[in-house]
Amino acid sequence: MTSAQELLQQYGPREAMEYDVVIVGGGPAGLSAAIRLKQLAAQSGKEVGVCVLEKGSEVGAHILSGAVMDPRALSELIPDWKEQGAPLNVPVTEDRFLFLSASKAYRTPSWLLPACFQNHGNYVI
Ligand SMILES: Cc1cc2nc3c(=O)[nH]c(=O)nc-3n(C[C@H](O)[C@H](O)[C@H](O)COP(=O)(O)OP(=O)(O)OC[C@H]3O[C@@H](n4cnc5c(N)ncnc54)[C@H](O)[C@@H]3O)c2cc1C
Repeated sequence: MTSAQELLQQYGPREAMEYDVVIVGGGPAGLSAAIRLKQLAAQSGKEVGVCVLEKGSEVGAHILSGAVMDPRALSELIPDWKEQGAPLNVPVTEDRFLFLSASKAYRTPSWLLPACFQNHGNYVI
């Protein structure tokens, strides 16, 4: 295995950038943490260097598997997300939970569904 010293001798010192906070992972948690840190720094008139490292080809490349989003956390973080043009344009209007047989579909009454299947107030994304 090549030691750090050997790498330095072979390639020379590497460029380095310093940050106050480095967040590994540009998913919702990492991005929220970065945004919140910058918000808090701006509120107190301080400058904070925040770096988000994402191994995907771009931010979002590994996270967009969802279909329905509860905007509660986004509203807490960025209350004016609608005015800022966040692309949440399709509110949920109806939930249907179906049991499928070979030839029929049986619908479960909405009032029987647990809270996690009630999507009113959420958005299809
Ligand atoms: C199939 C599926 C469907 C889903 N559907 C929905 C839905 O409809 N609605 C909903 O609200 N939620 C849905 N979720 C859940 C939602 O995706 C997660 O709750 C959310 O992505 C978690 O965010 P996170 O930031 O904690 O983690 P992640 O989104 O997993 O983000 C972590 C990030 O860190 C990066 N990373 C990891 N290791 C490193 C490293 N060493 N260096 C650099 N970067 C790194 C990854 O590439 C990734 O981008 C779904 C999840 C799955 C798997």
